[in-house]
Amino acid sequence: MSTDYYTTNNVHYTTAVKALKVTSAIVAALMLALFIVASSKTNMKVLAADDMPGSSVMAESDIFLPLYVISVDGVEMGAVGSESDCSLVMSLIASHYDLGFEAKPYITSNITYEGRLMSIRNLFTASELAEKIISMKDSDGKPFVKVTQENTTCKTETIPFKSVTEYDNTKYLDYRLKKSIGVNGSAFVTTCAIYENGSLVKVEEDSQVLCSPVTEVYVEGTMEIPYWRATGEFIQPVINVRKVTSRFGQRGWRLHPGIDLAGKKGEEIMASDSGTVIYSGWLPGYGRTVTIDHENGYITHYAHCHKLIVEEGDHVVKGDVIALLGNTGNSTGPHLHFEIRKGEEPLDPEKFIDFVAEI
Ligand SMILES: [Zn+2]
Repeated sequence: MSTDYYTTNNVHYTTAVKALKVTSAIVAALMLALFIVASSKTNMKVLAADDMPGSSVMAESDIFLPLYVISVDGVEMGAVGSESDCSLVMSLIASHYDLGFEAKPYITSNITYEGRLMSIRNLFTASELAEKIISMKDSDGKPFVKVTQENTTCKTETIPFKSVTEYDNTKYLDYRLKKSIGVNGSAFVTTCAIYENGSLVKVEEDSQVLCSPVTEVYVEGTMEIPYWRATGEFIQPVINVRKVTSRFGQRGWRLHPGIDLAGKKGEEIMASDSGTVIYSGWLPGYGRTVTIDHENGYITHYAHCHKLIVEEGDHVVKGDVIALLGNTGNSTGPHLHFEIRKGEEPLDPEKFIDFVAEI
C-alpha cells in the first residue's frame, strides 16, 4: 500500500532534516545519507522555483530514514519524521472540521502510526500529510477520514398541560364545567447534535421532567335538552289579575308563603316556567293544586284552582294552560295562591316577577 502515498516530487529535504531525532541510530542514518548524497552529487539537480512549491532539493537517490507511517483504517497514507508530527497530523485533521463548539472534534477513523526505516521520498510535513488525508474520498465520494464533533446544549422547556373532557349522562348537552385547572409542567432537555466531517448527521435528545403538568378536566353533559326544560325566568301565571290581595310575608305567627292574585273564576292559569307536573290534585287548605318541578332547583305551586288541566307526569312549557282559576280550599273568593319555592324554602314571587293587576 505504500505506493498510495509514494511521490517523487514532494520531498522537502530541509524539513526531513528538522524532523530527525537526535539518536545514535538517526545520527548513523544521517551520516549514511550524507555519504550517499555526497557520493551521488553528480546526479543531483536544483529545481527551478516554479517546478514545485517552496525551495526544495530533490534527491533522486533513495535515502532511508526511520520514519513514522500513518494509517487510516488500515490504509497507509504517508510518513512523517516524528511522533509529535503524528500528533500534529491528527490535530490538523480534527481542527479542519472544527465548527467552533465547546467540545472539540475528534477523529473517529482508526488512525495508527508505526516507526519504520523507509525511503525519504515517503516523507511529508505534518500539514502536507494532513491535507492529503483530508482530501482523500471514499467510494461514496465522502471524506475518507471521519471526524466527529458533538454540540451539547441544555435548556428548560415547558410541558403544556393536556385538557380532557369527562361526560356526564345526567347533565344536558349545553352543560360544561371546568372541574380542575390545568398547570404547565417543565423539563430539563439536553440536546446533543452530532456532526460528521462538519455535517449534521444525528440529533439525540434527553429529557428529564422537573415538574409534571396537571391535566385540565372539563365535564360535559350528554342528555338531549328537552322541550320542557326550564328557562330560569318566571312569568305572571294569570294575565288578567284584578287585584293582588295578599303579598308574601309574615301574618302574625305564620308565614304567607306566596302571593294571592284575585281574578275571575275560570281564568286560565299558565305554567310560570317550563317543567314537569309533580302533583295535580286536592291538598287540604290549598284546594285543587298543581305543582311543577322546574328541575333547576325551583318548584311552583298553583292553589285554589277551579279545574285542573294537567296530570302528574305531564311536561309543560312556560305559558301552557295548566288549570283554571277558582275558589277551592281555604279561600274567600276566586283567586290564585301562587308560590315559588327553592327546594322546600318559599321565596317572595315579587322578587322574580313584576305583577300587573287592574287595581
Ligand atoms: Zn294565599
